[in-house]
Amino acid sequence: MALLQLRDIGKIYVSDGNVAVGIRGVNLSFERGEFVAITGKSGSGKSTLLNVISGMDSYEEGELLIEGSPTSHYLQPDWEEYREKYISFIFQDYNIIESFTVLQNVELALMHIEDKKERRRRALELIERVGLSSHIKHKGSKLSGGQKQRTVIARALAKESPIILADEPTGNLDSVTSKEIIELLREVSKDKLLIVVTHNFEQVQDAVTRHIRVFDGSVESDHVIKRAEPVPTDDVRPEPKQETEGKKTRGRAVKNGITLGKSIFISKPRLSAFLCILLTIGTLGIFVVTSFCGSAADIFKKHYIFEPIEGRLVIAKRSGEMISDDELDALKKEYNAERVLHYDILLDADNNNYVNYRIGDRIYSFRVRPSYNDQLGIPDVGRYPESDGEVFLYLPIQYQDEFGKDELILDEISYNGLHLDVSGVKYYYDNTKLPILLFTEGGFKVATANHYVGRNAVNANISLIRKTVSSESVISRINISQIDLSFDVEQNKIYVDSNQYRQSASDGELETRISLNSNYYKHNYDYYDSSEEITFSKTFDDSYVTKSKPSEETVQYSFGTDRLIVHPQVVVDMADEVLSESYTQASLFFESDKDAEVAAKALNEKGYIAVPANTTYSPGFEEVLLSMLQCAMLAFVWMITIVFLAFFINLCTARTLGAFKGDMAIMRSMGISVKVVRIGMYVRMLISLIPAFIFMVISAVGIFTSPSLSEYFKYLQLWQYVLIIVGMIMLTVRITHKQIRKLFRESVKKSLRGGAAE
Ligand code: ADP
Ligand code: MG
Repeated sequence: MALLQLRDIGKIYVSDGNVAVGIRGVNLSFERGEFVAITGKSGSGKSTLLNVISGMDSYEEGELLIEGSPTSHYLQPDWEEYREKYISFIFQDYNIIESFTVLQNVELALMHIEDKKERRRRALELIERVGLSSHIKHKGSKLSGGQKQRTVIARALAKESPIILADEPTGNLDSVTSKEIIELLREVSKDKLLIVVTHNFEQVQDAVTRHIRVFDGSVESDHVIKRAEPVPTDDVRPEPKQETEGKKTRGRAVKNGITLGKSIFISKPRLSAFLCILLTIGTLGIFVVTSFCGSAADIFKKHYIFEPIEGRLVIAKRSGEMISDDELDALKKEYNAERVLHYDILLDADNNNYVNYRIGDRIYSFRVRPSYNDQLGIPDVGRYPESDGEVFLYLPIQYQDEFGKDELILDEISYNGLHLDVSGVKYYYDNTKLPILLFTEGGFKVATANHYVGRNAVNANISLIRKTVSSESVISRINISQIDLSFDVEQNKIYVDSNQYRQSASDGELETRISLNSNYYKHNYDYYDSSEEITFSKTFDDSYVTKSKPSEETVQYSFGTDRLIVHPQVVVDMADEVLSESYTQASLFFESDKDAEVAAKALNEKGYIAVPANTTYSPGFEEVLLSMLQCAMLAFVWMITIVFLAFFINLCTARTLGAFKGDMAIMRSMGISVKVVRIGMYVRMLISLIPAFIFMVISAVGIFTSPSLSEYFKYLQLWQYVLIIVGMIMLTVRITHKQIRKLFRESVKKSLRGGAAE
């Protein structure tokens, strides 16, 4: 059975309304081992004949039989498969991939060998066979015409296809080189069908076994010159491809596509670098826009009236009365709460109502927590607080330089004169979170008292009293609103820091009394002497008594820097009294929010108002509007950025598309499937994205650890990075998809002709 048989084949070209006959009524039959020369004038149909045989061009009339089976019903994929199995093509203008090395060009044709080492070995073998061993690493563009054609021959052999078609393979070569190439072709294809189109028969006549002359689309003559050596067909039949399930072929296509994609990426270093830079700029652009516009996490952050700590239940009495500590303890037991926090006001100091502490010479805003409320992890420096006078800081990483990495640099904080030691620090990266101050339970109470009293209840009076023989007369009263707390002060002592006072007290005639918080606080601290250290006694006189007899000697004082320094416990006592008369709320903590909700139901039926903290999300109209606006704006900016980016990348890469057109066509003419080429293109684009992502991560780390930059950029959550990455991948896939369609819209033949116009 003939390897190839053409029966009455006709091919007609129709273009611009003109009909041109390519070939007509061609009857030919070819066997393995033949070396056929086809000659004829220009335009006589030689190329058309080869294109029909190769399946790159369709035929309208007759039938082409391959090993006896007809092909007139073939569709594009069938022809592709046919080409992959049977055909190697050699062109006049070489058609090697110029950016690939000799080795890569040959390996490309060896895709069917799965084992990489075997593929390499086979490629080297073929290259040696065509005499190019010394040029393995040379790029196609650096080779002479003869060397290019040798590469193409090696590539053609690599496929182990039974048919090699050559259209004017020596058309661009000098006569000596041409002879060499023809000789090489003859040598390497003894067991194959070799069909060569040429207009120079002399060059080939010594080598060929058969000469076909074409005239005006028809076969004019067909001479056998010498007998072809018969070839035992069994040996050369291309390995019958195991038509395995689609899965396996797909897996191989992906593998080959990846290999191809890598080759394309590496073989065009300047283009690849350009692409990488472009995509990096794009990725960083989206990153910056996202971070600049305020992180999306911010928009969706809920605002709670009560800080939603897991299991927190806020309660108050429906009657508006105070809740006593005893009552709270009873509730705790009854409802199985884990703990109670009577004075919970500091928990709800949030972004808008935070607590400012002075550390060194700067003021920082903090959330405040008793230590049992937060699991912050292992401290980066120091340890968690153990005494009431200690505090633990949870700070953004940018403060590391300020507070210390291995040991504490700043170790004291103050708030309204409350001085505390820093026991340790833990750093975090998310600069959208507010720092946290962690107290012991006792410390938290002091902080609460300090906060509460400092705002609402402090009212300290220092009275200077002149003792006369008959009576006492108040000559001045200093109203002091600043009370400093210090653990260094003994509980029963008060320090007064007031120059004016010191002056007048030292004349010995004046006696001083201090009353703290006379409106609420029932204790009078009678105050005896000394400008530095004053001991006081707690008396329970109802209040300090004013003798209202006017005095002749009135001393005027200016107030300002006057302050009292007391032990925190004094303030706690004051706060306790003040709070216990005015604070109507408390928090119970349960194991979980669910438990809190269950308890809330029961308590609500028992004369309490009980609200699980996590249900107190209540955005006002303004807030909703604002966050919607912010959302819309972010989406808008995102869209603009992405559209602009897509446009820009498209514009920049469209120019580079031309460089691929030829290569793609060559690959397809070699029988590399569209699928593999397509996957290769995607892979190349995705590889180009990798530096962009690496760069983004590096930039992010740089920005969020740098104190100056992190002020302008909002920390992004992991999912936001994932979003950016997915977005960029989708963008590039989309662009690649469009470009591939553009590339493949033109048929193989057309693209090749584009470069090989006769
Ligand atoms: P040869 O290779 O022998 O020079 P071709 O096979 O290229 O000749 O051309 C044979 C005939 O078919 C010519 O008349 C040519 O004009 C016509 N032809 C070839 N390709 C096309 C085409 N793509 N569109 C229209 N006519 C074509
Ligand atoms: Mg031609």
